[in-house]
Amino acid sequence: MTLEAETKAVVAQFDYTNEDVNKAVKEFIRQMGEGLEKEGTSLSQIPTYVTGVPKGTEKGLYMAVDLGGTNFRVCSINLNGDTTFNLTFSKVAIPRELMVAKSAKELFAFLAKQIELFLKEHHGDQFEKHVRRRMTVTSPEGFKDEEVFRLGFTFSFPVQQIGINKGKLIRWTKGFDIPDAVGKDVCALLQQEIDILHLPVKVAALVNDTVGTLMARSYTSPGKTGTVLGAIFGTGTNGAYVEKLANIKKPVTGEFDKSTGLMVVNTEWGSFDNQLNVLPNTKWDIELDKETPNPGIQMYEKRVSGMFLGEIVRLVIVDLLKKPEVSLFKDENSSTNDWKSTTSIAPNSGVFTQWGLDTSVMSVAAADTTPELVALRQALEEQLHIYSPSLDDAQTFKAIAAAVGRRAARLSAVAIAAIVLQSGTLTDPAYDGEEIDIGVDGSLVEHYPYFRDMIYEALGQIEGIGAEGAKRIRIGIAKDGSGVGAALIALVAADME
Ligand code: ADP
Repeated sequence: MTLEAETKAVVAQFDYTNEDVNKAVKEFIRQMGEGLEKEGTSLSQIPTYVTGVPKGTEKGLYMAVDLGGTNFRVCSINLNGDTTFNLTFSKVAIPRELMVAKSAKELFAFLAKQIELFLKEHHGDQFEKHVRRRMTVTSPEGFKDEEVFRLGFTFSFPVQQIGINKGKLIRWTKGFDIPDAVGKDVCALLQQEIDILHLPVKVAALVNDTVGTLMARSYTSPGKTGTVLGAIFGTGTNGAYVEKLANIKKPVTGEFDKSTGLMVVNTEWGSFDNQLNVLPNTKWDIELDKETPNPGIQMYEKRVSGMFLGEIVRLVIVDLLKKPEVSLFKDENSSTNDWKSTTSIAPNSGVFTQWGLDTSVMSVAAADTTPELVALRQALEEQLHIYSPSLDDAQTFKAIAAAVGRRAARLSAVAIAAIVLQSGTLTDPAYDGEEIDIGVDGSLVEHYPYFRDMIYEALGQIEGIGAEGAKRIRIGIAKDGSGVGAALIALVAADME
């Protein structure tokens, strides 16, 4: 086959038709329902103990900390009560040795120390006042309540949440390994170390980043009705939405405010359809899955999120390079038969190593609409060490990347549509004429050109939504879920005390 015909054949395999999308939406709703009924299902549907979303009028000074993969971020957030906020933050890299410390105490003592340093630097007055008071009282309980900061703790590792500020670590990920922390309540671990330093801080809420995104969006862009869904399309993908309490059939233990009749549910949708009832499954998806440390798991995420899209494109490219009859990235002067050395790609190129093709190159390809594809060809040279790619080469790369990106956007529309339909907001009289607001965060949705447009295009084709419904859905970027979003959850938690 010629390069053009081969490219067409590849692109066709990434086609995810309107019929596919509609079938997947129905299956997503079914799997959501299953997750609300029992444990151990595809979608975990974790109750978060957050029982409402902000209106934009919330006020007060709160703290938030975020323990992600590599950094620990400490911030204070002043909610001004008018949809705006002021945020002060500091960031410190987590020392490698603490990620694999002998005991959890070492890591959490370090985190508490960072909170102390932050308070001294940015809230010196309040801190000094507090220290003076500490000298005159004998126990932490003697502190004045209004002097105590409520803190939202964003902890991006799998936890079993059992209350708004209680959650047991299930396992470490991202290179952390401190065995004695597993099974323990991470909020209590942090609070213990905060108390040892006598800091005026109460860990009020344990925060998942998607819930933070939902809250941040609802505070900063409140409609009459509040945001329905917070979603992340970055390294990974996940979403949290507002569910009716009555729909949560599995037991929700622990204390929470039942008066709103609502609870935010963390779907953990990265694992939607691990059984592949409706997800597409090309030979490259199969290959990618096999290479990962968790085959058969997070199957939706492996077709949607930033970590994986570049890798899918890479696997397709490698496949095409291996076909002698397809002239892609060919070195015309080569006389050997080995597929690697007949290409114009440097041996150290990311094309030849797993995860070596970053999804951001796909964004460059999508953004370059010039006839000569100058920017893309330059990116191929500079980022992937492909020597003098021809226009044909660049066009092929662009077409493949576009096909993978478009499929990801259409799959993203599946989750969004399922949750909009599940929420009933399109037909709810309370939402009459109102926009259905969705907050999103993550480099993919922020930087991949036309990602949101492709989502809207698919939404318009979905039964129960259609063009009219799609027009009412407003997908907006929500920044700082782990800052302002976490602060807002601390506020909700403080109100419940
Ligand atoms: P995280 O999800 O870890 O908080 P990000 O939201 O920045 O961080 O997402 C990082 C992911 O986004 C990486 O997988 C990266 O490949 C991808 N990414 C980074 N820049 C871009 C871009 N310009 N276009 C598309 N994807 C990108």
